[in-house]
Amino acid sequence: MIKVLFVASEAMPLVKTGGLADVAYALPKALLSLGADVRVIMPKHRAIKEKFEHLIEEVTHATIRLGWRETYLGLQTFELDGIRYYFIDNEDYFGGKIYRGGDEENEQYMFFCRGVLEALPYLDFKPDVLHCNDWHTGMIPFLLRTQYADAYPDTGTVFTIHNIKFQGQAKFDIMADVLSVPERYYTPSALEQGGSANMMKAGIVFADRVTTVSPTYAREIVETELGMGMQGILASRGADVSGIVNGIDEDEFDPASDPALPAHYDAADLKGKRECKKALRAAFGLKAEWYAPIICMITRLTSQKGLDLVREAADGLLGSGAAFVLLGSGDEEYEVFFNKLSEKYPGRAGVYLGYNEERARLIYAGSDFLLMPSLFEPCGLSQMIAQRYGTLPIVRSTGGLADTVDPYNKYEKTGDGFAFAPYSAHDMMLVINLTLDVYREDKPMLRQLRANAMTKNHSFAASAEEYLKLYGALAPSGKVKK
Ligand code: ADP
Repeated sequence: MIKVLFVASEAMPLVKTGGLADVAYALPKALLSLGADVRVIMPKHRAIKEKFEHLIEEVTHATIRLGWRETYLGLQTFELDGIRYYFIDNEDYFGGKIYRGGDEENEQYMFFCRGVLEALPYLDFKPDVLHCNDWHTGMIPFLLRTQYADAYPDTGTVFTIHNIKFQGQAKFDIMADVLSVPERYYTPSALEQGGSANMMKAGIVFADRVTTVSPTYAREIVETELGMGMQGILASRGADVSGIVNGIDEDEFDPASDPALPAHYDAADLKGKRECKKALRAAFGLKAEWYAPIICMITRLTSQKGLDLVREAADGLLGSGAAFVLLGSGDEEYEVFFNKLSEKYPGRAGVYLGYNEERARLIYAGSDFLLMPSLFEPCGLSQMIAQRYGTLPIVRSTGGLADTVDPYNKYEKTGDGFAFAPYSAHDMMLVINLTLDVYREDKPMLRQLRANAMTKNHSFAASAEEYLKLYGALAPSGKVKK
């Protein structure tokens, strides 16, 4: 049985700021059900301490060297929902914000990477593979192949890119100081990128295999400027780079049993969805005609999510007869804009600024369409959750959106959503109008598209099989030596 240590900065149900946390829960769970021995290691964030302290046991603690100083390292553990978690504990680094930003965040996660490698001998299992995620874990493959090469010659590494925009750029002096990195690694073929040390690059260069969260995004980051400067180094890894699409936990997101919903439904009987729509209208004070379609967005408010297109097309969208609901938080410019929009279109545009899991679920269930016109999208989970709830996604064909939404084809009568390609408000409105035509004039087609979306397989099982193949190629005997 292959043994995998999954390394992440956040994981559901312990702490979540974005899709990485969903994946760090659903993927280990799917791998466990395929028989792999997968455990998760992450920082012991304050929120974890507050909620779970009574369940957590100490494994060991020690004083470790961190550059010229010595610092405390605690290793703790507990099991939840069948998953074994290990925690790297140090109040100075993880007693506050999960991501502190800037140099402080760089140092937080340099410590985390050191901590994971120092903790390995104390775990009650010896992983064949360390599966690292995003730049916060990027120094692990580097340290493993350099400073720990003699200690762990047979341990494989997989590095998964969830969003290449965030790279962990640090001053080399700080990295050299905190992690004792010799200057000879500060070159463009190793750690240097555009004048800084780059922890995302460390993962890309030194891991045995590099994956990202959808095949289309894998192509885009190698071949286009979406690689955010990493195209060349990714291309140099050739076939070691691949895309494996994320899934969702289909038990967790199930309109037939979701406790957050006022009524339940499934693909065979959508009556409950109408009840959810009523509840959604009440929750957001929507006064549009009862038959008006509801287009929703549930999103971080950041330019990546295509909000500039929505801003540009907002009057056209609200003038189309549809109602609009948005749940999100993030950049102030968008928060201000959407607040004003709800004032301008009372009863037609409902806006809730903030993060709220229960509301998210009511919106997924009660809406007719989910708008996701992303500028780029490594995978995206919202469109898959929406499909599961019979809410057809309207997406821009990029990254994982292109891989998970089969666009409506009016000649072949196929699809499970709607899509447009050019990043333009005009093209977005064309497809929104097409969507609304189907909604108003072709109910049988609408029913068919909804059924296609709801019965689509979004489980992590198929992707987990692909990860297993990847792990198997690395460990224990087939590991690629660099
Ligand atoms: P990203 O990771 O880029 O934010 P994803 O689509 O991969 O985007 O994942 C976003 C996840 O966070 C989804 O589960 C979505 O439902 C959830 N989400 C986003 N914004 C909110 C919010 N304001 N309130 C509740 N859930 C949210």
